Amino acid sequence: MKISEILDRSHYSMSFEVFPPKTDSNFASIETAAAEIASLRPSFLSITHGASGSTSKYSLELAKKLKKSCDTPILIHYTCVNSTREDVKKRLADMKEAGFSNIMALRGDIPEGTSESDMASWEYRHASDLAEEIRRTEPDFCIGGACYPEIHPESPNRWTDIENLKRKVEAGCEFLTTQMFFDNNIFFNFMYKLRNAGISVPVVPGIMPITKANQVKRAIELSGSFVPQRFKALVDRFGQNDDAMEQAGIAYATDQIIDLYANGVPFVHVYSMNKPEVARAIKENVSHILGQPTEYCKADI
Ligand code: FAD
Repeated sequence: MKISEILDRSHYSMSFEVFPPKTDSNFASIETAAAEIASLRPSFLSITHGASGSTSKYSLELAKKLKKSCDTPILIHYTCVNSTREDVKKRLADMKEAGFSNIMALRGDIPEGTSESDMASWEYRHASDLAEEIRRTEPDFCIGGACYPEIHPESPNRWTDIENLKRKVEAGCEFLTTQMFFDNNIFFNFMYKLRNAGISVPVVPGIMPITKANQVKRAIELSGSFVPQRFKALVDRFGQNDDAMEQAGIAYATDQIIDLYANGVPFVHVYSMNKPEVARAIKENVSHILGQPTEYCKADI
């Protein structure tokens, strides 16, 4: 089933994300964790694609294994940084052959030390170039793209970032998923600007449950997200106690999710990071909301 059909806004829904192994040696343990997360019946499961293409083989392999063991729709990420046209065509053909048609079109992070002249020779400079290629090659694929409520770090300002996002949608992205954020007002504000700019595709907020104190630094480095005082206090107070921190992190993410649902956002994507226990706890926390019709807030977001 296409993700664009799943994101139909009629019911509250939740999706989860897993990442593939980096080597053969931990494939089995990650497959087990991912299968457990899939068994929670998210509306779809996304599988990331490692930085600089290092785990491209494993994301499709993991997807194939999961397809055999569960019937959850799968969204496969693909980063085009450094990819040739041939690589992309091959990936699309392999996906099609394996029965997958949902793809997240990403540029990926630019590897350190890359110069302007290196980039000039790339066949795909931006995710929008990849989205165009996919749309041309596989018109029936459903394409998603990434977006940044707190601006992509390379963008000079918010307006340029939104203009570039609009190009990505025009190139073929049928839905967008956000970078993590810890303050919902940032997301609501972003949505207002997107809709004003004429971007009307579904935008899925990405929520990252922070369950370990040391995850905070890494998450902020990666995303540049603003961390509210309320969240800092929680990490300061519970960060040294693993169980307490996990419980508090799940509660914080749940609170964000319920606030999003209550304010007219029908779907949420949880960066569940190969942690079935975290995915399960969050899903249970909203079990009476998920699947409920959203008719009273259909027009909101
Ligand atoms: P782009 O859309 O190309 O944007 C990158 C920068 O270029 C932005 O500043 C943008 O404004 C600008 N830009 C875009 N189009 C144009 C244009 N036509 N002309 C000029 N400037 C332009 N990384 C991974 O390695 N693997 C993953 O699986 C992965 N999954 C992700 C999922 C989500 C939901 C998100 C939010 C991020 C994910 N990332 C992943 C991280 C992502 O690869 C990085 O943030 C990367 O730096 C940008 O990728 P992008 O697809 O957003 O790039």
